[in-house]
Order: sequence, then C-alpha cells, then structure tokens
Amino acid sequence: MTSTSLLMIPGPIEISDAVHRAAGARPVSHLDPVFKEHFGEVLRGLRSVFLAGEGYRSFVVAGGGTFAMESAAVNLVDPGHTVLVVNTGLFGDRMAEMLRRRGANVLQVGAAVGEAVPVDEVAEALREHRPRAVFATHVDTSTGVRLDVEGVARVAREQGVLSVFDGVCAAAAEVFRMEAWGADVYYCASQKAIGMPAGLALWVVSPRAMRAREALGSLPPLVMDWAAWEPIVRAYEEGRNAYFSTPPTTLIPALRVALGELVEEGMERVFERHARVASRMRAAFRAMGLRMLSQAPANTLTAMYWPDGVDGAAALGAIRARGVVVAGGLHPSCAAATFRVGHMGVVTRDERALVRTVRAVGEGLSDVGASVDVEAALRAFEGV
Ligand code: PMP
Repeated sequence: MTSTSLLMIPGPIEISDAVHRAAGARPVSHLDPVFKEHFGEVLRGLRSVFLAGEGYRSFVVAGGGTFAMESAAVNLVDPGHTVLVVNTGLFGDRMAEMLRRRGANVLQVGAAVGEAVPVDEVAEALREHRPRAVFATHVDTSTGVRLDVEGVARVAREQGVLSVFDGVCAAAAEVFRMEAWGADVYYCASQKAIGMPAGLALWVVSPRAMRAREALGSLPPLVMDWAAWEPIVRAYEEGRNAYFSTPPTTLIPALRVALGELVEEGMERVFERHARVASRMRAAFRAMGLRMLSQAPANTLTAMYWPDGVDGAAALGAIRARGVVVAGGLHPSCAAATFRVGHMGVVTRDERALVRTVRAVGEGLSDVGASVDVEAALRAFEGV
C-alpha cells in the first residue's frame, strides 16, 4: 500500500500524528523512570476510557485481540464448567473454540447472519443453564452487528453470572460503561478505535472476575495468567520496578498519547462522534443502493453486499486505485458477496477523509460497472 492511501478497513486504522511520532521513538528500558510513569498513566487511562472505577484492574500486554480473548477464556473457566457464548459472527465462533479447548461445556445462542441476539434469549439461556460465564462480542467485525451489551451485562448480573465482552471492534467508539453496566471483563486490541498501531492486547477486569480467577482450579498458561500479570501492572501503577515479561516499551508510551487524546476529548463526545459519522456514512452507502449486511449496525464499521453482478476483488482494487483501502467480506457465509468499510478513530474527525472514502467507493463501484449515483451519495452524507 502506498503511504498516500487512506486506510478505511475495520482495523488497523489511521492514527493521529502525535501517536505516530510517539510510536517512532527509540527504545527505552522497561525500568526507565519516565517509562514507568507512562505505563502507570496508560493503566489508569484505560479505566477512564472503559468508564471503570479504581477497583478494576487494567492489563496491557504485547499481543492482539486474540490473545486478550484467550486470556479471558482461560482465567475464568475451569475444564467442565458450562459457559454461554452469544454468537453474532466469526469472533463468537472463535471464542467458542477457545472455550472448548479449555475443556468447557460450551452452549451458544445465535441468530441469522447479520442479526443481533435479543437480550431476552440470553436471559432465558442463563436461567435454563446457569453457566459460569457469558461471553459476547460487542461488535462482530465479520457481520457489523452490534449487541446490546448493557442488556446482556444486566441479565448476567441478575443471575450471578460473569459477563465477558469482546470490545476489539467497539472500545473507544461504541457506548460502553463498564462499572455502571456491571460488566466483568472488557478487552480490545490497540489497532482499532483506540487509535494505535497493532501490537497490544488491552483488558480491564472487575473485582468479582479477579476473585473468580483466584478460585480457579486449573491454572492458565503462565503467559496469559492474570495472576502472573497482576503484580506487574500493580507495580507500574504504583511506580515500582517489576519484571515478568518485557513490556513493549515503545508502544506503551504511544498508547499513553492515544488514550490521552480520548480522555481529553471526553468519552461522551467520542461516542457521539462515532454515532454521527456512522449514520452519515450509511446514508451515503444507502444512497448508492447498497444493501446492508447488519440489521443491528455498529458505529465502527459498515458491512454491505456488493451490487449484483459486481466482482468483489475487482471492486476492492478499483476503490484502492482511487486511494482508499476498504476490506472484503469476512464472515464465511457471505465473504465473497460483501465488503466492509471502517469508520473509527481519527478519520471520524476528518471530513475530507470521509468524503474521499464515499467518493472512492462510489467511483470504484462505477469503474467496475455498477450504476452508482456518487453525487447523490455525497448529498446524503452531507444531509445527515
Ligand atoms: N475480536 C474482534 C471483534 C475483532 O474484530 C478482532 C480482529 N479483527 C479480534 C477479536 C482479534 O483481534 P486480533 O486480530 O488483534 O487478534
């Protein structure tokens, strides 16, 4: 990809100039006093972004969203436990597989591809099966479906079940109030709305979920054991030296800049900005005649069907040739028939980038033979 293309896939995303500069710094010691201070700020900042109080524990570890997913699976569930997966796409399938490998008895509630699972169905399954924990994806990136996480967290609380949410394609964009909603675990990765390059797994754990880890019978693999990381992140929050596995000493100071930008803007405004941009982008795509995959559309991405007769690979190439990188489909049931446009992070503050995206998608589709009214799409974008 050329440096002038605009990255509009659902992660990794474009980053701010300040984060870019910070991520280009020379390496420092993991015990450097300034690094320790910055890591402490990151851990506190993550709680602010997730709207969680001081009793919650933040973790930032080298890895990706998949690492964070597996850490949740192995720290809360013993072999033989019954667990419930609320499945709205590929990442629900992945979580179910991780839990099966942990030896859990995995039950699932799902819906047709593109649809969310109603909270009532989750509540019903919890009442019937009394699982140890419920695992759900806030926004499934393969379908563009957003789940009612507030509702799922509430019914889990009511039944005394731990609730674990995959926020990889939602955190720092979709409304999420960890403490007020009573969610037990929220995890994400650095490369999406957090506004960083890929490379970090981030998660926050409630006091109740930390106690569940302590009560575990079968120890997790050491590298993802919350009990191994807990003294380390605690030491960094308190400015003390600690070592377990070398932290990414360049990415963490860059993350401090990214989280600082979010906290400074204020999470309510961050949430509103993403909601506003999502509705404008979708108005534009609808005006192009595109059919949405998701019936419960997220604010972080739009997943759509290609127009009839359009070759997806050719269309992706045509859009790219117009300077914008969008993503192909991901859900196995409709990967070739769909494509996805991300709209999260710094681009949602950049009107020109958004217009450029609408134009590139519309003109790229026209280039491969679709009949698209690009000006009508731009008017719809402006009109919302
Ligand atoms: N969960 C969701 C919802 C995701 O979108 C992704 C990444 N696309 C992951 C988990 C896995 O993250 P990673 O690719 O960083 O391992």
